[in-house]
Amino acid sequence: MERPIVQTALPYDYTKLVEDLRLLQQRYPFLELDSIGESVLGKPIPAVRLGIGPNRIHYNGAFHANEWVTSLLLIKFVEQYAEAYSSGKELNGKNSEELYRRTSLWIVPMVNPDGVELVHYGVNPEHPYYEQLLEWNQGLRDFSNWKANVRGVDLNDQFPAHWEEERDRRFVPGPGMRDYAGTGPLTEPEAAAMADFTKERDFGMVMAFHSQGQEIYWNYRGLEPKESEAMADRLAAASGYRAVKLTDSDAGYKDWFIQEFRRPGFTIEVGLGTNPLPLSQFPQMYSEAAAIMLEGLLLL
Ligand SMILES: [Zn+2]
Repeated sequence: MERPIVQTALPYDYTKLVEDLRLLQQRYPFLELDSIGESVLGKPIPAVRLGIGPNRIHYNGAFHANEWVTSLLLIKFVEQYAEAYSSGKELNGKNSEELYRRTSLWIVPMVNPDGVELVHYGVNPEHPYYEQLLEWNQGLRDFSNWKANVRGVDLNDQFPAHWEEERDRRFVPGPGMRDYAGTGPLTEPEAAAMADFTKERDFGMVMAFHSQGQEIYWNYRGLEPKESEAMADRLAAASGYRAVKLTDSDAGYKDWFIQEFRRPGFTIEVGLGTNPLPLSQFPQMYSEAAAIMLEGLLLL
């Protein structure tokens, strides 16, 4: 095996993601790279496709800035899958060529690149939102608890699925590190890009990767298809995570996907601990998350 491209021992930022995608595509030219749109600060939001099959599947990560480990989990899975496919090997006991023929997997590894950069590097006076961000972060220069985008909007409270109820439940009056739903659904370019991308690609199933909790959320107000629960049980069995039926949560990406398309959508809470999760946990987290990503390819 060639030397791995994706290094998992160091924090993962947008620059590394873009570079890894370029190197992966060089080594594995069958990877298709695209961009779903741009962040508030104009960063292209990358997407990568593996597979040519009729089962259209989507995984995303880092909707929340301080959950950037999910980007690394997804991009490591891209590398492992591409390596297995290109060398005709199995992917954790599954036939990678068959997976590639049966499914088209689109991954958006970092939905919120501006937020991830903020968590890693904070702000300096050149940052276009310098003063607001310091104010919204209560004067703290440490942004490691930041979840939102750089306008202080929580991207996973932005979707038109009972958005008003989520806003009222959260009761966060203005921009901040977390839980502010914005002035309306899809006001933020990252959330709008995800909605457009999802509509265009006609996915049969989606998974949004978050951290932490070792849980799998599979329902939304009874609108999910009846097979969702059994699918969640399969994902739980593959990973050791718990399948959890949620109430009193709206306006998330998977909520909107289920409501809009009546197809299976899942939120996966990887790992256990305080965000950002330490990379000492990466091998364990990866074995659990990769088991879910692989099982996901077999669900449809
Ligand atoms: Zn999250």
